[in-house]
Amino acid sequence: MSNVKVIIVGAGVCGLMTAIQLERAGIDYIVVEKARSCSPLGSALSLTSACNYIFDQLGMLEDIHKVSYPCTKIDYYREDLSHVGVMHARDNLKRYGYDGFLIRRVALYDIMLSRVPKEKIHWGKRMVSFRQDEKSVEIECQDNLDDDASIASGAEPATITFSGDILIGADGAYSSVRRNLYKDMQAKGITLPKSDLAPLHFDSDCVIGVTDVLSAEEFPILKEKSGDFWVIMGKERVIQVYLFTFAEDRIGWQICGKMDKPVEYEEKDFRFTDWKPIAADELCNIVRDYKCPFGGTLGDLIDKTPKDRLSKVMLEDKYFHTWYHQRTVLMGDACHKHLPFGGQGANQAILDSVHLVNQLYGIPSNSLADVEKSFKEYYGNRSTNARDVFKSTSMVASILNARGPLAEMSRFVVLGHCPDWFNNLGMDGMNSDRPILGFLPPPPGKGSVKAKPQVVAAHYKPGTAVAAV
Ligand SMILES: Cc1cc2nc3c(=O)[nH]c(=O)nc-3n(C[C@H](O)[C@H](O)[C@H](O)COP(=O)(O)OP(=O)(O)OC[C@H]3O[C@@H](n4cnc5c(N)ncnc54)[C@H](O)[C@@H]3O)c2cc1C
Repeated sequence: MSNVKVIIVGAGVCGLMTAIQLERAGIDYIVVEKARSCSPLGSALSLTSACNYIFDQLGMLEDIHKVSYPCTKIDYYREDLSHVGVMHARDNLKRYGYDGFLIRRVALYDIMLSRVPKEKIHWGKRMVSFRQDEKSVEIECQDNLDDDASIASGAEPATITFSGDILIGADGAYSSVRRNLYKDMQAKGITLPKSDLAPLHFDSDCVIGVTDVLSAEEFPILKEKSGDFWVIMGKERVIQVYLFTFAEDRIGWQICGKMDKPVEYEEKDFRFTDWKPIAADELCNIVRDYKCPFGGTLGDLIDKTPKDRLSKVMLEDKYFHTWYHQRTVLMGDACHKHLPFGGQGANQAILDSVHLVNQLYGIPSNSLADVEKSFKEYYGNRSTNARDVFKSTSMVASILNARGPLAEMSRFVVLGHCPDWFNNLGMDGMNSDRPILGFLPPPPGKGSVKAKPQVVAAHYKPGTAVAAV
């Protein structure tokens, strides 16, 4: 076990999963998060079989099963509810060892937060800059004064610094760690790929809602207890509505619509796209009269959604090629931001965390050479699969977003008439990387499809398991 001190910036899925694993590894760490507390916004996450290995290994699966449903398919419909086709995940248990599942984002956060000691997370601290050298890394944070009362008071934010051996940027698509890292590298004369320096490009809006608890008499679909998705695609407008049911007898919905004027955002605008409760009438009004597969119209579901369970985000995708330098490394959305159409962003973030923690467990010392070597291994083990999945997600988005007779035809073939082997090929790609922690007993799950061989820095020896938290 190593004696490095780790600073994680961001308490999202990626940051918290990393924290839980470092806790089990007995590695010293802190998490710094700009939000003052865990935000209850957002709706569902669909997580694949590949992620179940680490949840099982960390003893989280039982809690997850209590508040999630297995996800076995995505059904696609046109606006008039005529069926386009289906993408199956029904063989996942057999092929990859576990079923995927659908869980309310807040429920997953509660489970993750219950496994990280409270004193390890520093809430309300926004990282603004860092410096790194041969010996250490130090970050500077400001008290996050984002709330209206603090802004109105005109108070200057207080500054606080933290230092350690390793800095992990798990701070999402507008990663402050990434921006500072790239500046640091450029200042040292390192040339970065052009695409890494280009601003994020947005071309879709997304409104997300979760209804109140509904009666299963009025919505019999709730009795099915399934984590499957229904997707309704607009005929003229490039718009998709995702519907799903939750273990708490609520229905979640997500409207993704192409913007009339795509925009590019520079770093000064990056806060604009945080999840926020927001008036979202425009997109909602477009789909209000669409028929709902559970009866009535989508407007009925929208009306059963309280305003504080509505949020809006803008959608972008980008794969960054530069993931680390010296003592700083990126994970999750900070280095590969996926569109939500393939439901892969959080999955890939979790897989990143397992690969990186395996490396950190085996790191021989906190010297710069050893730190850089472990990041290189992490990148080598993880980046190819992350990039392949990123490409598949972008392809799914283009198939769903295209309009016209040719596009209809391609959806008819890909979704409606694709043979099982083709469907399985896509699923294999998403589930080929199934990393586990080398220092804990392996979980029982096994699939008929072989996982990508895994390189771990230290191997589990019976009798050396670290106690469960
Ligand atoms: C509508 C929608 C639906 C989705 N559905 C799915 C799905 O079904 N399955 C799936 O796998 N993925 C899905 N995703 C993607 C998924 O939400 C993201 O990929 C995932 O949340 C990324 O996790 P992360 O921890 O890397 O980043 P984030 O979740 O963005 O977390 C980053 C954290 O860092 C904090 N932070 C940012 N800057 C700073 C700073 N300077 N200092 C301190 N803290 C900071 C933020 O407040 C945040 O808490 C969906 C996304 C959207 C928009």
